[in-house]
Amino acid sequence: MYKYETHLHTSQASACGRSTGAQHARFYHRLGYDGIFVTDHFFRGNSCVPHDLPWADRVHLFCAGYRDAKEEGDRIGLKVFFAWEETMDGDDYLVYGLTPEWLEAHPEIEHCTRRQQLALAHAAGGCVVQAHPFRQRDYIRRILLAPDYVDAVEVANTGNAPLDDVCAYRYAVERGFYMTCGSDNHLSGFGVREPERTWGVGLEEPLDSAMDYVRVILERRPMTLLCPEDRLRPQEDMVSPDAWILDEHEQPVLSGHDWVWGGDKAV
Ligand SMILES: [Zn+2]
Ligand SMILES: [Zn+2]
Repeated sequence: MYKYETHLHTSQASACGRSTGAQHARFYHRLGYDGIFVTDHFFRGNSCVPHDLPWADRVHLFCAGYRDAKEEGDRIGLKVFFAWEETMDGDDYLVYGLTPEWLEAHPEIEHCTRRQQLALAHAAGGCVVQAHPFRQRDYIRRILLAPDYVDAVEVANTGNAPLDDVCAYRYAVERGFYMTCGSDNHLSGFGVREPERTWGVGLEEPLDSAMDYVRVILERRPMTLLCPEDRLRPQEDMVSPDAWILDEHEQPVLSGHDWVWGGDKAV
């Protein structure tokens, strides 16, 4: 099995990132991973790239963590792939399969809607995965689900509470979504991050490019979610949070669904 980290932030481009791309690369290499996706927060998320520069300069700075990881990966034998994580209204999306060159040529991505984001990604052969859809944090006003605007759902994320992942898993099962798993790693290093808190996906075939991963997702190829077995199983004391589903106009509609146990939510 080939192991990949699908969700990771660097200090060069994410305001919350604490390890450089090269530090991440060395950590995953030592853990026996075959590759990583650098998914820094894009411009509507927690980016540390100044907004008041020409687009090409912003994109160049945005890719600094990726370039650093890639350089180190090439040296030590770890595949490093480019992707990003965009934030809409507290809801986050991992975009795979597009390149820094594509970004430079498509400044309209910065203000696109979720629907446009998916269309732009598809037109360029990429795909979109909703990241940690049930995460509850103070910066997230409410849980927004975007079933019409993604290709897959990240069901396990080490940055989440277990409840968030249980709900995401049920959501993906009930809607038939292809599932992914990632660490959302902001800090790598032995002694600061436990290897067992580092998750990802296990694949039967190695990836040579980010496009290979897009094909895995869109063709729904076999994937092992590299997270603890009981992570996605409901625990007795879990209570379903409220969640809003984005309709065809991207407007939130409150759902009465119980995301832990299924069926209608008890009132
Ligand atoms: Zn972050
Ligand atoms: Zn993230």
